[in-house]
Amino acid sequence: MSGSALKIGVDLGSTAIKIAVVEDGELIATRSTPTAPGQEARAQTLIEEALHELGVSPDRPRNVVSTGYGKKLFTCAAKHVDEITANAQGLFHLSGGEARTIINIGGQDLKVISLSDSGSVVDFKMNDKCAAGTGRFFELVARLLDTPVNDFPTLAEEADGELELNSTCVVFAETEIVSLLAQGERKENIIRALHASVARRAAGLLGRRTPTGALYLDGGPAQNTALARALEDELLLEVRVLPKPQFTVACGAALGA
Ligand code: ADP
Repeated sequence: MSGSALKIGVDLGSTAIKIAVVEDGELIATRSTPTAPGQEARAQTLIEEALHELGVSPDRPRNVVSTGYGKKLFTCAAKHVDEITANAQGLFHLSGGEARTIINIGGQDLKVISLSDSGSVVDFKMNDKCAAGTGRFFELVARLLDTPVNDFPTLAEEADGELELNSTCVVFAETEIVSLLAQGERKENIIRALHASVARRAAGLLGRRTPTGALYLDGGPAQNTALARALEDELLLEVRVLPKPQFTVACGAALGA
């Protein structure tokens, strides 16, 4: 590994802290931990762990850029960049310049970002007022069903009904799901209905415009493969997901270092 400065992006998100290490335009290491007090120290630990694993000398110069809602908490960053720009830069780069629309589902918000042919942000919309359509909604249902989110893709495949969740608010959805369970509804059907409900939210934010060019889903919940399938069913469009979709924002910050 050469001695040039390593580029490191730190994404201090509402739910998870993510770091990405980039060398010569390539994503070479990632790490994450839940968001909790002491965010700067937690992020520093992730960086040291990643560099240790890469066998990088602690003296090697590094350029660190922070992003995410807590970006200013990372005081040792050379600069802070907003998460929309970082997301656009990261995904455009990692998609080999193909991405034109990004649906980002985070722990507590939902965003749609439109990109130009050169990868700059031409438009964005965000829904951070309601947990429906975010990772938090999945976590809530996982608790209600006593089933880990990791099992959702398989269980969604095993659904056999046409159940719909009618509540547009998480609080009412919780009551609706409790009542469905009490009536003996299968959890597979509830899980599939949950994915369809989140997909409808995302499609609603996307609006009536048909996206031109490739559409990508990223953010932590994009690791759930059933979510991209539900979005495809809703939009009748191909929805692409890159490996490690939770790190695209951190990667974009690193690229800006
Ligand atoms: P933020 O940047 O807002 O902190 P992230 O993009 O890191 O959000 O996503 C965090 C969300 O991702 C959490 O709600 C978490 O439950 C969800 N998540 C993490 N891993 C998975 C997984 N394997 N499948 C589905 N959701 C996941």
